[in-house]
Amino acid sequence: MKRRSFLGKAVAAGVAAAAFPRPAIAQGKMEWRMVTAWPRGLPGLGTGTERLAKRIGDLSGGRLTVKLYAAGELVPALQCFDAVASGTAEMGHDASYYHIGKSRAMPFFTTVPFGMTAAEHNAWIAFGGGQELWDELYAPFGVKPFPGGNTGVQMGGWFRKEINSVEDFKGLKFRMPGQGGEILKKLGANIVLLPAGEIFAALQSGAIDGTEWVGPHNDMALGLYKVAPNYYFPGFHEPGAALELMVNKQQFDALPADLKAIVQAAAQAENDLMLSELNARNGAALESLITVHGVRLRQFSRDILTALGQASGEIIAELLASDDPMTKKIAQAYVKARTNLVEWTKVGEQAYTNARLLKFDYPR
Ligand code: CA
Repeated sequence: MKRRSFLGKAVAAGVAAAAFPRPAIAQGKMEWRMVTAWPRGLPGLGTGTERLAKRIGDLSGGRLTVKLYAAGELVPALQCFDAVASGTAEMGHDASYYHIGKSRAMPFFTTVPFGMTAAEHNAWIAFGGGQELWDELYAPFGVKPFPGGNTGVQMGGWFRKEINSVEDFKGLKFRMPGQGGEILKKLGANIVLLPAGEIFAALQSGAIDGTEWVGPHNDMALGLYKVAPNYYFPGFHEPGAALELMVNKQQFDALPADLKAIVQAAAQAENDLMLSELNARNGAALESLITVHGVRLRQFSRDILTALGQASGEIIAELLASDDPMTKKIAQAYVKARTNLVEWTKVGEQAYTNARLLKFDYPR
């Protein structure tokens, strides 16, 4: 290469870098930006994401460090996907159903009503062809997804008033994302999607009558019980919500092999840890909500769950018949995987937990 042309390229690169500030790169070290949909320090989701960002730096010996931006610090909570796609941030952490506007197939990679549990979802993603479909769905946007956390089964949500029949959903102003929101719409509710940081204010002002969020440990931090004390279960709409680490695909592909493996391993570790942490803390949080904060724990009736299940089936039928080939393909794959996994769960985990509940308890 002639010296003049080398210099010319170096100058051009310098101009481009000045116009579009890139992450600091010094002595082989990189700093990436991670935007997230979660308020800073939110127990469970926020703290888990912070742990994931730190782990990438630790595992790489500081060669790739990740600066985390909580919701609204660099981009609004619900614009993380766009930020990663456009390269505004190299990484993002949110839930795929927040970008349902891009494709109706998106929620299958978070969770869908009456769908797979966390264990089943993880099995589908890692060993059942789920990851490949997820990659295919995101490729046109230039985004590479990884599993990056799971909430486990959620709670049905917080309601100002009791829900005693399907009629009670009519006209209800409720916050619920993804297909869960589509179901409640079918039952006559008015559905809104709000990020975590905006839920309490909307509930307090009366803009919404109720909301779902995650589960006891996470929900307690948002203070939702102060306004809507009826806490329903089960979380029919989110049996195991998977969260995602999104990486700008061009940036990811340019990483050396060991850093790629580190990003993947760090995400996989958090996928396991977040679920463990929430399982560890939810029981105590629920007890505190009931005994200290006067929360009324209520169960959706069989009639209500049946109606919700029927509406859920109608939505899946729409997606199986979708005009969009990718949506149809993912819906078909999800239904097939769920069918196979449920058959094993019935004989395995479900049969066991039923037996444990009914037949035997340890001495205390
Ligand atoms: Ca939720």
